Amino acid sequence: MKIKLDRTLCDGFGLCAAHAPETFSLDEWGYVSLAGTGEVAPEDEEGVRRALLDCPVHAILTLPSPQPAIASS
Ligand code: SF4
Repeated sequence: MKIKLDRTLCDGFGLCAAHAPETFSLDEWGYVSLAGTGEVAPEDEEGVRRALLDCPVHAILTLPSPQPAIASS
């Protein structure tokens, strides 16, 4: 799972960091940034999905994961 954050939408509610503190970090004003590249470890996906659903301004987006190439026969 890979996510993207639109910081221009973030209103600093802090819900995302409450659900997935390993993925989202808050600055001193409560605005969020991604702790890493946006790649979410499988064990962190549940919290990130809750953050995605609870973000009141829909600032968290999922990006399509690259699909493995299918070998032709
Ligand atoms: S839940 Fe949404 S609005 Fe709140 S801090 Fe996270 S990204 Fe920003």
